[in-house]
Amino acid sequence: MSDTLKSLLASHPEAAPAIGAPERDWLSYGGLRALADEVSGSLHDAGIGRGDRVAIVLPNGPEMAAAFITIAQTAVTAPLNPAYREDEFAFYVDDLKAKAVVLMADDDGAAYKAAKKLGVTILRLSVNNDAAAGQFTLQTDVTGSCDTAAPEASDVALILHTSGTTSRPKIVPLLQSNVAASAHNIATSLALTADDRCMNVMPLFHIHGLLAAVSSTLATGGQVWCAPGFDALRFFGWLRDCDPTWYTAVPTMHQAILSRAPRNAEIIEAARLRFLRSSSASLPGPVMEKLFETFGAPVIEGYGMTEAAHQMCSNPLKPGAQKPGAVGVPAGPEVRIAHEIEPQLTDGAIGEIVISGPNVTPGYENNPDANAKNFFDAEGKRWFRTGDQGTFDADGYLSLTGRLKEIINRGGEKVSPLEVDGVLSAHPAIAQVVTFALPHPKLGEEVAAAVVLREGEDISERDVRDFASERLADFKVPRKVVILDEIPKGATGKLQRIGLAEKLGLVDT
Ligand code: ATP
Ligand code: MG
Repeated sequence: MSDTLKSLLASHPEAAPAIGAPERDWLSYGGLRALADEVSGSLHDAGIGRGDRVAIVLPNGPEMAAAFITIAQTAVTAPLNPAYREDEFAFYVDDLKAKAVVLMADDDGAAYKAAKKLGVTILRLSVNNDAAAGQFTLQTDVTGSCDTAAPEASDVALILHTSGTTSRPKIVPLLQSNVAASAHNIATSLALTADDRCMNVMPLFHIHGLLAAVSSTLATGGQVWCAPGFDALRFFGWLRDCDPTWYTAVPTMHQAILSRAPRNAEIIEAARLRFLRSSSASLPGPVMEKLFETFGAPVIEGYGMTEAAHQMCSNPLKPGAQKPGAVGVPAGPEVRIAHEIEPQLTDGAIGEIVISGPNVTPGYENNPDANAKNFFDAEGKRWFRTGDQGTFDADGYLSLTGRLKEIINRGGEKVSPLEVDGVLSAHPAIAQVVTFALPHPKLGEEVAAAVVLREGEDISERDVRDFASERLADFKVPRKVVILDEIPKGATGKLQRIGLAEKLGLVDT
């Protein structure tokens, strides 16, 4: 098994298509390998080499996919959400100790401003639209020296942050070997071959798209066709033009696709989808059934998280073997229930899902407390506590039954209530704030905040939201703000986010 990104791509035929995009020629595996060499040269000239961190802030699409897979063969990649505001970029770029930031040639927005202020090298990415999909060049006036050795299996390939639910966002380093193992796990559970074509609609600054769509495909010599992002209105046109054998998405995307399906019956009829995949948030049973009815292909729900380089469980491919409501069977790492292997774990560990395997991060960076809390040794292995609770049924399928972490899962996009609290409490009129999850029919959960104002202050819910949206990417801005005299506390007198929506009468029961 290949254990670096370079070795993952090494053996596929020169001429075989690798990366595609709407109205673009395919970039071949030979072309992708040549691009990786060129990128390596540009990075080394700029003084960026093995172990150096490169933040990548690019729009979704083939260049983002190619930038990740090529830069990771020389240095350490850290993709960031281009929707972040300047403060958010500044936090992440600084926290990562990024040596460089990759930006589109004409990007002078928030990421550029943050990088400029921090004095980080800016690498300008130029696209030639007549060239094959994903082809790009990197330019900078900075020169320097660096370690020009190729990364090894035990080197970090990819850094992502957690959403930071219990503290500030944690840095998750994923090794070359973690990424390679996960790509291999996903490819195996989906029986991917060089004949498969994935249509990517997932954002490529999250683990789901980077691993489940891009890396798993490239590990098997298949084709990944990169749409510029998810768009329900353009989805069926892309489906026709790309003609994929599969795609992966979050449940809210599947729902939006379903709502446009009736007027696109001909395209669906002509499609050759082998299966559809869903992950990152719970796929409601009726949506799964409707997808199956609509596309006539099995719907494979998977269970993933950043710390596992995405996939932990997956429903089997076999026709009829997909259980609605279950996230599948272990599909790569060992997946167990904590108290069954470690009865001493008492702090809320009842039913907690734990994992162990070569795809799991070795540990959070610079965070001994979080590592002590989230990793433990048992049965001669190192286990990671997922913070999710679940049970296995008699057939070995895992169902998620609850969550120990306070993360808000907004249709697959994870939001830290603590981060939103931090931003809102800086408002001069706000005395206290508790951000919490509000159940939402389509997204699963939506961001809400309960706010207590300082004496004599009088601001509106709208003012609170405006304040938030200047400082936070849109998906983190509370859709609902309630202004209260006092925030109700739990039985122990502690503020509790979990269950707050019910306590405030915001949920129909
Ligand atoms: P991405 O950030 O790329 O969307 P991800 O959702 O796999 O990837 P995280 O952001 O780390 O990764 O979120 C992981 C959490 O998402 C899990 O701990 C779990 O709570 C939730 N989750 C993932 N898959 C499912 C699923 N199929 N059903 C319900 N919850 C899920
Ligand atoms: Mg996520």
